[in-house]
Amino acid sequence: MVNFDYFEDVSLLKGKSASEALEALKRTTLFRVKGKDPSRAVLVSTLIHGSEPCGFRAFLKEINRERDYPFDVYFFVGNVAAAQTAPYFSNRNVPGGKNFNRIWCIENPEDEEETCIAEVETFLKSLPLQGVLDLHSFMAKGVSPHCFVVSVDDKTLDFAKRSAPYVLQIGAGMGALIEAMGNKCPSFVVECGTHDSPEADVFADEVLDKFFKSFGVLDGEVSEIWAKDVFVNMTNFKVTPSSTVVWAENEDPSADVTLRSDCESLNLSKVDAGEFCGWASSLDFLKASNGKTPVDAADYFYIDSGKLYFKQDCVPNLMGVNEFVSKESGFYLFDKKEETA
Ligand SMILES: [Zn+2]
Repeated sequence: MVNFDYFEDVSLLKGKSASEALEALKRTTLFRVKGKDPSRAVLVSTLIHGSEPCGFRAFLKEINRERDYPFDVYFFVGNVAAAQTAPYFSNRNVPGGKNFNRIWCIENPEDEEETCIAEVETFLKSLPLQGVLDLHSFMAKGVSPHCFVVSVDDKTLDFAKRSAPYVLQIGAGMGALIEAMGNKCPSFVVECGTHDSPEADVFADEVLDKFFKSFGVLDGEVSEIWAKDVFVNMTNFKVTPSSTVVWAENEDPSADVTLRSDCESLNLSKVDAGEFCGWASSLDFLKASNGKTPVDAADYFYIDSGKLYFKQDCVPNLMGVNEFVSKESGFYLFDKKEETA
């Protein structure tokens, strides 16, 4: 492989701690653990974001169990360079580099990172994959674990609803791994908890076990349906790069926008139209899109007397108190899908 490493066993990492294992890697790496039947496979993806080690730790734990699998299991370690940027497991991307979960599905890669992902994508698409699990964590504290899916067909939702208490459908055009693989097989992002927390590590272990059982890698019963709600119709909002944004309990007149300091508490909860969001004099600070299609932020927010409000009933996700993230990947608003079952 030209731009990523590929190993047909995991001996390189066995018995190593997370930091030792990270040091043993040179760059983006894909591992294959051969099973009895090579005509089927699943993929477990970790560290697509370098600051989200829970999936990597679950992977290391799993390989030390030395299990025999009925078919092939691939483990992907995504942004090794970001994770290796000191201090370890604290950088989402390489400083100045790309977000590794926004550069899939690119036809003409333009730099080394995009070329690497494009090569991995071509390789993965050549595999007989039955399922893809991409393990992540998030910055916010006090937010529930949740699962992202591309499609909301019965097979996909069956595992998604067992994996976490909330299921959210991402829109097309994000450039995520699960978007690239979603046409091929059921594909999931599970956000396991707060970055680098013991809870996220435990959750990632449990989700991996459920994934293996659901997709036939391991025998055993999968726990019952957990999620009642499925959230759909995702719209992405980013703060424009030139805007100044702060989070506070009172308006900061020196900033273009002051957002509620407790905005994280709105994540994964039903927000009603008219809910207060912060202070701004115009909506120019906000760029809204559905996938790659720009949409009008004024359909989702309004300003009245210098205050910013939600215009529609919605379910926010990934709202956070962080200027870099608010500009780089932003936050999302969803609609709730009414379930019949
Ligand atoms: Zn992530």
